[in-house]
Amino acid sequence: MALDSNSADLTNASLGSSFTDVDVVVVGAGFAGMYMLHRLRSLGYTAQVFESGTGVGGTWYWNRYPGARCDVESLEYSYSFDEKLEQEWEWTERYSGQPEILAYANHVADRFELHKDIQFETRVEAAKFDEEEKLWRITTSDERVTTCRFFVMATGCLSSAAMPEIEGIASFNGSLIHTGRWPKEGVDLKGKRVAIIGTGSSGVQAIPVIAKECEQLTVFQRTPQYTIPARNEPLTPERQSDVKSRYRNFREANFSMPQALGSETPKFNDSVYDVSDEERSARFEEAWNRGGTLFMASFNDVLVDETANTYAQDFVRAKISEIVEDPEVAQLLTPEHIIGCKRLVIDTDYFETFNRSNVDLVDVSSDPIVRINETGLATKSSQYDFDVLIFATGFDAMTGSILKVDISGRDGLRIQDKWAAGPRTYLGLTIPGFPNMFTISGPGSPSVLTNMIISIEQHVEWISDCIVSLDDRGAETIEAQVEAENSWVDHVNSKADRTLFPSCNSWYLGANVPGKTRVFMPLLGFPGYVRRCEQVVENDYEGFVIK
Ligand code: FAD
Ligand code: NAP
Repeated sequence: MALDSNSADLTNASLGSSFTDVDVVVVGAGFAGMYMLHRLRSLGYTAQVFESGTGVGGTWYWNRYPGARCDVESLEYSYSFDEKLEQEWEWTERYSGQPEILAYANHVADRFELHKDIQFETRVEAAKFDEEEKLWRITTSDERVTTCRFFVMATGCLSSAAMPEIEGIASFNGSLIHTGRWPKEGVDLKGKRVAIIGTGSSGVQAIPVIAKECEQLTVFQRTPQYTIPARNEPLTPERQSDVKSRYRNFREANFSMPQALGSETPKFNDSVYDVSDEERSARFEEAWNRGGTLFMASFNDVLVDETANTYAQDFVRAKISEIVEDPEVAQLLTPEHIIGCKRLVIDTDYFETFNRSNVDLVDVSSDPIVRINETGLATKSSQYDFDVLIFATGFDAMTGSILKVDISGRDGLRIQDKWAAGPRTYLGLTIPGFPNMFTISGPGSPSVLTNMIISIEQHVEWISDCIVSLDDRGAETIEAQVEAENSWVDHVNSKADRTLFPSCNSWYLGANVPGKTRVFMPLLGFPGYVRRCEQVVENDYEGFVIK
């Protein structure tokens, strides 16, 4: 049963012994771990959070690269669980920048006094389920073991930075930085020759800002990117107070959206084939001018019908050739794949940046990178020299941070073996063979296809309600059944297979990490997912064994 929250209040300073008991160990102090801690404590449970960074914020703590900002509007990309918090925090931009989002995370941590139960600069290295004692033993990088009844992996979907294996990386004499591990003290790029590898969301955000700061920027692009203007702008006090005056309704409306966002953005339920060529172009033009990822919601079939998709592709391709002055550069920047099957990017002046005289584009699909050397890098045909090399090469998404921990469940089953052929979960929350362990926004949950803070809140609340329910019935363990997992995995796949998502090499499929099993990891559709989670509870935790 839960200990009294005051008497069992563990602070970093009190972690004096090598054996500590808490109700719940939470790994990670991003938005998921922070809310998990707050929620558990308010229910009277003791919790210890371990975080490898020196502060809270997760994604927003690590990704300090120039230009980093959210692609879900700030009034939506924020916690909804506390009305006072919602009212008191003032956002300054439509899409806030990383410093402001990190300041918000710190504000939340201060407001709810989270720091005292978070041990920073501590990696969770292993977790082992003790079947006899019905508890988890968590081993951390400070060589301590913490025991707990429940174990929550709040380790993030996009927290394991992926570095490509390019020969000679260690030989480079300049600075080498990954966008997802940007130095806290910042990097002075003034007067420097900078190179960047990668043109996903991180690269597209960073490139225009870095280009203005450095002397010379060389962009190494493997796959061109569809990107839509963000149309970021200052948030007017009128808009902010309007939303705040009706925040509950605003949130409720967003909860009912497929991605838990954008209820006030026009969406259309007709097909590209239902309208004339002029109407179709006008619709795409409006969405382009409005900005944001809901460009894809201009018609109901852009993400499900390959031919319908080509209309959206052609529209963006035409924009690229209008914006980029040099036709050869424009051609290199023009994608050919399905639009939206890699995560759609939103940008500020991305294509315009290639009109600058200090920016060069190198197509490494036709002229691959061969090695990194002391002064720069060599492609098959040329040598490029620079002072700073930035990797905007993404993440081992959704499973990377989980599989880096040596987790063993019942009968010594290791998560690495269980997921050898790809991740399998029930509801994206639990895994058969791993009793009393939960994943927040795990594979098989809507997570990265939604406004993630809202998905995180739903997971945290489901997990904490589940723990309370176990205690109410005097049970010790909950474990998902394999049959439930099998049908859940089928459900996730069948939803994805009805769309164009599986049609290109995206990180949604694990295709960006050499050797990773190709399987579509997130689940499409937030409201249906929430309803299913509720039904599971209404049916007395259908698909689980409770003992
Ligand atoms: P994270 O924020 O990733 O936090 C996980 C934490 O766990 C990290 O601090 C990490 O250090 C820690 N950790 C991991 N493993 C261990 C371990 N073994 N031991 C100890 N600590 C560990 N989503 C949106 O919905 N909208 C956006 O606009 C948006 N923009 C994004 C921009 C960027 C640059 C990136 C990378 C992602 C973005 N995302 C966005 C997704 C974003 O990751 C989530 O919105 C959200 O911040 C995730 O919170 P989290 O707490 O689940 O994970
Ligand atoms: P990403 O989308 O995976 O992009 C990585 C880029 O690096 C791709 O262009 C990829 O090319 C390239 N790359 C990888 N290895 C390479 C190699 N060996 N040689 C050359 N190029 C290589 O990663 P990301 O940009 O960090 O974004 C990941 C996710 O984080 C996003 O999709 C989004 O969910 C989130 N994010 C959001 C925002 C935001 O706008 N709020 C900002 C940043 C990140 P290929 O395409 O050819 O593989």
